[in-house]
Amino acid sequence: MKWFKRWRIRHILDRHTIPWPLWSTLMHSAPIFTGLSSSERAHLRLLTSLFLHRKTLSGIHGLYISPEIMVSIGAQACLLILKLDLDYYDGWSEVLIYPSAFKVARDVSDAAGVVSHQERMLSGESWSRGPVILSWDDIETELSSCHPGHNVVIHEFAHKLDMLNGRANGMPPLHGEMVREAWTKSFSQAYERLQKELKHHRPGINAYGATAPAEFFAVASEYFFTAGQTLKKHYPAVYDQLAAFYRQDTAGR
Ligand SMILES: [Zn+2]
Repeated sequence: MKWFKRWRIRHILDRHTIPWPLWSTLMHSAPIFTGLSSSERAHLRLLTSLFLHRKTLSGIHGLYISPEIMVSIGAQACLLILKLDLDYYDGWSEVLIYPSAFKVARDVSDAAGVVSHQERMLSGESWSRGPVILSWDDIETELSSCHPGHNVVIHEFAHKLDMLNGRANGMPPLHGEMVREAWTKSFSQAYERLQKELKHHRPGINAYGATAPAEFFAVASEYFFTAGQTLKKHYPAVYDQLAAFYRQDTAGR
């Protein structure tokens, strides 16, 4: 079956590889891709082409999904799995894109069992075995200039990886050579430290990471890909775990 899979991939790439001018413009205009080697960029282009062939990107409220929008979302999503495999995004097929932040309404129950109706504005959301939902406004802002530690595409696709082994809990399926206890220790110590820091002074990374372990993993991933050195400075053990998981050394780029 392996030869068949390879043949199919070749067949798709022959017809659907992202055109060079479109790809080159994105690589040279978005700071998040700075520092990738030419072979990494070439591999990212193939991964992104296959990703866009497998997934459906749909605009909400009449948003036209231009080739530029498709490629910029696809390439950022595939940056997380550059050294992994496209199969990490199996089991779901849709990316929904709102023109700007969108409102969600939900019934939430607290620890005492009291159910309340809440409405919130979001820039992204990730459903288990369902779609990734994004706001184009936010993506565009974060893509065109440097916003260290902020990237909604990285955030939501990190949740997707986290949910590969069940509910989002801040621990994606680790590789065989990784040690589960080391991951748990690094992340739980960092999570507790961020919560303590919040009470006394401005924390080293985005406070949103302190809302839940799953959010800490997603926020730490945002830093890993947009401000690797900042994450390495404030949370070196978390950086090392993410470097082992993503198989990338972003601080060195
Ligand atoms: Zn989140």
